[in-house]
Amino acid sequence: MAKVTLPDGSTLEISDGTTLRELAEQIGAGLAKAAVAAKLNGHLVDLSSPITADAAVKIITLKDEEGLEIMRHSCAHIMAEAICTIWPETKLVYGPTIEDGFYYDIDLDETIRPEDFQRIEEKMREIVKSDKPIVRKEMTQTEALDKLAGDKYKIDNIKRAGSDTISFYSHGDGFEDLCRGPHLPSTGKAGSFKVMSVAGAYWHGDPTQKMLQRVYGTAWPTKKELDEYLSRLEEAKRRDHRVLGKQLDLFSFNEAGPGFAFIHSKGMIIWNAIVDFWRGVHRKYGYQEIKTPVILKEELWHRSGHWDNYKESMYFTTVDGVNYAVKPMNCPGGLLVYKSSKHSYREFPMRIAELGLVHRYEASGVMHGLFRVRQFTQDDTHIFCTPEQVESEIIKGIELTFEIYKVFEFEDCHIELSTKPEKHIGSDEVWEVATDALKNALGHESIEYKINEGDGAFYGPKIDFHIKDCLKRSWQLGTIQLDFSMPQRFGLVYTDKDNTEKTPAMIHKAVLGSYERFIGILIEHYAGNLPLWLSPQQVRVLTISEKTNDYAKLVHQKLKDAQLRCGCDLTDEKVNAKIAKAHAEKLPYMLVVGPKEAQSNTVNVRIRGEKETKMVKIEQFLGIAKQKIADKKVDLTFSETT
Ligand SMILES: [Zn+2]
Ligand SMILES: [Zn+2]
Repeated sequence: MAKVTLPDGSTLEISDGTTLRELAEQIGAGLAKAAVAAKLNGHLVDLSSPITADAAVKIITLKDEEGLEIMRHSCAHIMAEAICTIWPETKLVYGPTIEDGFYYDIDLDETIRPEDFQRIEEKMREIVKSDKPIVRKEMTQTEALDKLAGDKYKIDNIKRAGSDTISFYSHGDGFEDLCRGPHLPSTGKAGSFKVMSVAGAYWHGDPTQKMLQRVYGTAWPTKKELDEYLSRLEEAKRRDHRVLGKQLDLFSFNEAGPGFAFIHSKGMIIWNAIVDFWRGVHRKYGYQEIKTPVILKEELWHRSGHWDNYKESMYFTTVDGVNYAVKPMNCPGGLLVYKSSKHSYREFPMRIAELGLVHRYEASGVMHGLFRVRQFTQDDTHIFCTPEQVESEIIKGIELTFEIYKVFEFEDCHIELSTKPEKHIGSDEVWEVATDALKNALGHESIEYKINEGDGAFYGPKIDFHIKDCLKRSWQLGTIQLDFSMPQRFGLVYTDKDNTEKTPAMIHKAVLGSYERFIGILIEHYAGNLPLWLSPQQVRVLTISEKTNDYAKLVHQKLKDAQLRCGCDLTDEKVNAKIAKAHAEKLPYMLVVGPKEAQSNTVNVRIRGEKETKMVKIEQFLGIAKQKIADKKVDLTFSETT
């Protein structure tokens, strides 16, 4: 007999060798039907696995993240079988899961085209309909190498697996593929899927190898979830910041500088509004602002550790025969400012901010509008403090970050803690103290977080802030990184209470990350319909005929006096054409004025996204608009009585 402990703490006596599927049946028919795999003592396994000793068990269904991933991976196998049926000469390479789906890399001389997707999907549906059991078979590495002799891709996979036992999964007695698993119990358990795209991909990303075809797919538990996902994708296309950026004349890119954004005047209005807001919040939290050079001598980057740990992402140049590097981060410059004078514990915590222009090399294939660029402005801050102040400074940093995010009405925000990476500077003890400080600060704020082992910066552990935009897409924005190494490397000191010189602790923090990228995210988050405080033009006066030109000019002047970003369309176009033009520019407010408005000193307000217009006194409109800007309100609507 074996004792099984379930997630709710309850226990069950079962006979040795009972499979997880049988266990699920004992628990309940509903669970057995929904089961796709199980977690046995923390390890994901197939339902066919037997329980041979006392164990903790969780039955996995498609409601679990792991279950969804297993289903998507099984879909990769099903797609591989479908492709191999249509093109029997296909050589399979590997097929992992990715966010929202999966892909399979294949070696096939014939090019798969989008027209072929339907054919592949039909074959996949046949395989699912036949509900073949997915069966695991194990053998020794030698046997597996023998079995796959001549298949360089699979032999490579076996060698990379680095295990003596190699497993294969088959769909009934047909299609079979080398795989670690686990998998769905049968092909019929696959949900709703779609073949999405195909792209070229080098084997192991190595450009000296043959170009393979990477076929992408997506899979969801139900048809409804698949449809929702597809419509989110459509919506994302409609919101693409590269398209909207051009349409709204916010920024552009040019061959003269791939990956370097040209921000246009309307884009700069958004930029500066965010900078003003960012500065205001930082001032409130006691930050001072500095500015440091963009290029600095190479020697400095040796000392900072960037040369050894970050060289591949840096740009270099030579001036007067001396080698310089273009800064990829602002920290060394900040350290030099600190070193330019003596410091005492009395000045601590010393909070320094810099909107620093950094350059980081990105491969041309990964650049993407404002999201992935080679030059960007980082909202960088560095805090120098005593070790005792570290925790409370991190807590304040977390609070400041949330205060800024709240304004943009992102759906939710979660935090990840990243620990010591393989490439790092500093001793293990220092890393432990730093990691604990971050954990304590998160504990103090009662924040739940996920741990990413080995994902920290090379100089210290960090917490990252991830937000979700209105399409539920996750973005990493802010970061708080603890660093006991860099101050030491640069010989930073302060005079402590006991009159001795000590090394300060350093906290690196960014809230928005990159201004360029953040603006790209905002454009997509709002679908170009920016809130009033960020809109390049906030309000425009439109005349019905030239008879009211004088009144329109008067209204326009009042808007200007109230410091609103405004315009006045006095052209002789029809008013509907003027409205359409302002609408295309996604203007928050249009004030239509005709003889009736001129007589009553009112304006007819058209609110972006609203059908009803509102007739209000000009002073009332000014009051409403100014209040919405001051409060950074996203909502534009108002009632006449306010
Ligand atoms: Zn597999
Ligand atoms: Zn830094």
